Amino acid sequence: MSSNQQLFKRAQQTIPGGVNSPVRAFRSVGGTPSFIQRAQGPYMWDVEGTRYIDYIGSWGPMILGHLHPEVVEAVETALHSGFSFGAPTAAEVLIAEEISKLMPSIEQVRLVSSGTEATMSALRLARGFTQRNKIIKFEGCYHGHADSLLVKAGSGLLTFADSTRNAPSSAGVPETVTRDTLVLEYNNVEQLRSIFESEGNEIAAVIVEPVAGNMNLVRATSDFLRKAQELCNTHGSILIFDEVMCGFRVSLGGAQSLYNITPDLTCLGKIIGGGMPAAAFGGRRDIMAHLAPLGAVYQAGTLSGNPLAVAAGIATLRLIQAPGFHEQLSSQTMKLVNGLTQAAHAAGIQFSADSVGGMFGLYFRSTVPTSFSEVTTSNVAQFNKFFHAMLARGIYLAPSPFEAGFVSATHDDAILEATFSAAYEAFASILA
Ligand SMILES: *Cc1c(COP(=O)(O)O)cnc(C)c1O
Repeated sequence: MSSNQQLFKRAQQTIPGGVNSPVRAFRSVGGTPSFIQRAQGPYMWDVEGTRYIDYIGSWGPMILGHLHPEVVEAVETALHSGFSFGAPTAAEVLIAEEISKLMPSIEQVRLVSSGTEATMSALRLARGFTQRNKIIKFEGCYHGHADSLLVKAGSGLLTFADSTRNAPSSAGVPETVTRDTLVLEYNNVEQLRSIFESEGNEIAAVIVEPVAGNMNLVRATSDFLRKAQELCNTHGSILIFDEVMCGFRVSLGGAQSLYNITPDLTCLGKIIGGGMPAAAFGGRRDIMAHLAPLGAVYQAGTLSGNPLAVAAGIATLRLIQAPGFHEQLSSQTMKLVNGLTQAAHAAGIQFSADSVGGMFGLYFRSTVPTSFSEVTTSNVAQFNKFFHAMLARGIYLAPSPFEAGFVSATHDDAILEATFSAAYEAFASILA
């Protein structure tokens, strides 16, 4: 059996940075990432046999905990009928109907394989539909790694890039591609109003994480989202809610039901695949009618609607409809952030925390941030110490101060108590 260290060394020979997605590399917090062997419920075990309580949940999808027996059974059943056909299946109709039922703004939906594909396709559709080029995004929101969206794009990039204002946050993205991407401050109603006043008739779409989870957790104000909707309506622009992370997690109907706002298009991912690669975008029927094969906006995918992913997705979406599911999830998550805040304050650390449904944010600053620039004033050195102290005590948090955390239905009171015990020691060790 190899150790984490041996594997990481070996991985770096054949995989850039040793990982297949940058934040897994622990660059931000330092040290060697754990190589995970298996997971069950709220736990993960690495190749050395160390057990962790998992607060990442694959960055959101594992809302039921790992290996929920009914999801496993659904995938097993699908598995024996074939992996992929490149032809339509009945299960795709079922999941489309399920999504549309849970989020009524989604009259029609197209399945894809990743959140990146969903946002990229939704933007192409919005541009094709409006015949305009400009899009508005907000600082700190991440919408996947499509070229035109890699401007001021949060977490992974926040951890790695030395970005200059309005320039692409990644090498390899020509300025000509991001020229039409306007970046505004999250929750800044005045900026939004002013840009629509000057350029409103050229704006194809506003894309926003209605509960932002890629600059740590930052909730939108109701006023901000409502203004975005109103301005889009007035100017014929498309309002796109990127609910890849918050969809089905902050409430059953997503952030749009929490805020009672009907976006024109919605992007989904993470939970709708139940841990398998599935994502989607959908919304107004008249807009979706512009997609190929009906319309002129091309979009396609060999593995879109993959039968195994769809089976995991349907099972997950059905299980989260159990009565009281989200109330219980929210209540556990709230208990978690309250307990951690108490532990931090007991140790004299400046700390605040917030949660929306089953998502949470921990901030090494005295108040909950409302924008990207506020998030960046968190005490990164203290976070890094806390992260490693928790990891050493078997608690697996996101390895960056700019990521949200995730609770599953298997995080019961005993799991929270174990987390608090570790946290009291971990916070105390920061100033020691
Ligand atoms: C994760 C995420 C994406 C990208 O999804 P991938 O499946 O990683 O491509 C897009 N938008 C938001 C809000 C996300 O959290």
